Amino acid sequence: MDNFPSCPSILVLLLLFFPLSWADSHDTFIKCLSDQSNQLSSIVYTPTNPSYTKILQFYVRNRRFNRTTTPKPSLIVTPLTETHVSATVVCAKSAGIHLKIRSGGHDYDGISYVSDDPFIILDMFNLRSITIDAKTQTGWVQAGSTLGELYYKLATISKTLGFPAGVCPTVGVGGHLSGGGYGNMLRKYGLSVDHVIDARIVDVNGRIMDRTAMGEDLFWAIRGGGGASFGVVLAYKIRLVPVPEVVSVFRIEKTVAQNATDIVHKWQLVADKIDNDLFIRVLIQPVTINKKRTIRATFISLFLGDSDRLVKLMGNDFPELGLKKEDCMEMTWIESVLYWANFDNGTSIYALLDRNSNVNFLKRKSDYVQNPISKEGLEWI
Ligand SMILES: Cc1cc2nc3c(=O)[nH]c(=O)nc-3n(C[C@H](O)[C@H](O)[C@H](O)COP(=O)(O)OP(=O)(O)OC[C@H]3O[C@@H](n4cnc5c(N)ncnc54)[C@H](O)[C@@H]3O)c2cc1C
Repeated sequence: MDNFPSCPSILVLLLLFFPLSWADSHDTFIKCLSDQSNQLSSIVYTPTNPSYTKILQFYVRNRRFNRTTTPKPSLIVTPLTETHVSATVVCAKSAGIHLKIRSGGHDYDGISYVSDDPFIILDMFNLRSITIDAKTQTGWVQAGSTLGELYYKLATISKTLGFPAGVCPTVGVGGHLSGGGYGNMLRKYGLSVDHVIDARIVDVNGRIMDRTAMGEDLFWAIRGGGGASFGVVLAYKIRLVPVPEVVSVFRIEKTVAQNATDIVHKWQLVADKIDNDLFIRVLIQPVTINKKRTIRATFISLFLGDSDRLVKLMGNDFPELGLKKEDCMEMTWIESVLYWANFDNGTSIYALLDRNSNVNFLKRKSDYVQNPISKEGLEWI
């Protein structure tokens, strides 16, 4: 036993060993990257760079992960070209460094920019070009684009082409489409990934591949299999969907005293059966009205058609909500995108290009309800 070092000695050895090996990997990575890219200084941010904190924090979309105790990356790489992405993957692999891929930073648990292991961030925000071909009704969208930028681009090209994806404009295309992507045209058109027809990715060996090169299995996996699992997505080729020149929206609030429980219960029975042009979301929240705590259900809708048809449809299939024509607003599809993103009526579509977002403390979980919740269950909730 005398030959073994004492516990404090082991600790000192460990402390010496780990920082050194990490520093070595770090240097290996930087050297490898500079060998491959002469633009290194403009794409790599170390903690001593004055822009490091700003870049790191800009795409932190959850204040839970913006604390002094949150683990920080030792480097942020911000590629300007596909080749930069490829070089980053190759160098991170050869240096044995954990790579986090970030597009819009909206991961609910900060997975794209936090890790307990030493890590670097591959930040895709510069790769945000979007090209739309109205003739073929398709487009290429780079992973660092936001949904808002995609919707904006569509609006500049056509009033009758849309894309079925999420309602929050600052969500990144890279993470959103990798995970499926659902929005308020879900009932008519399914998920975003149902409209992805090609993609460009960088695999673990740094190869840039399109659908043909990657093969159908991998192409299937990157459309919903979860971000960062199968490589770095550079861009998705999407098929656009037709939207009418006039759509309708409404927002109706009902408290418990206004029969919210029965109406929400009925909504569960009709929501998946009513005309596919109609999507109704319900938000159930505790509120205080006249100093009394109660529960309020807010019904928010997008209808791909005019308000006359909407009112008739609702009268037949969901009369309990009591929708009247004056509750509805007719607008273009892009205006409905702004409406759903809670912008005031009349807000310019330029607002969709704004990458700033309100950052809150968030913890979110989703689930699928297989059977309608009973009225008793709703009351219990
Ligand atoms: C406020 C808010 C509103 C939302 N609204 C909706 C909604 O309406 N509909 C909906 O379906 N979802 C919604 N989401 C969920 C959102 O779609 C997912 O969290 C999505 O993964 C975010 O993508 P991102 O690029 O912004 O996030 P990131 O945090 O950058 O990435 C998320 C995940 O994808 C990986 N990833 C990112 N980019 C790439 C890439 N280029 N290649 C490979 N992997 C990558 C990351 O490593 C991480 O694992 C919302 C989330 C928030 C916070």
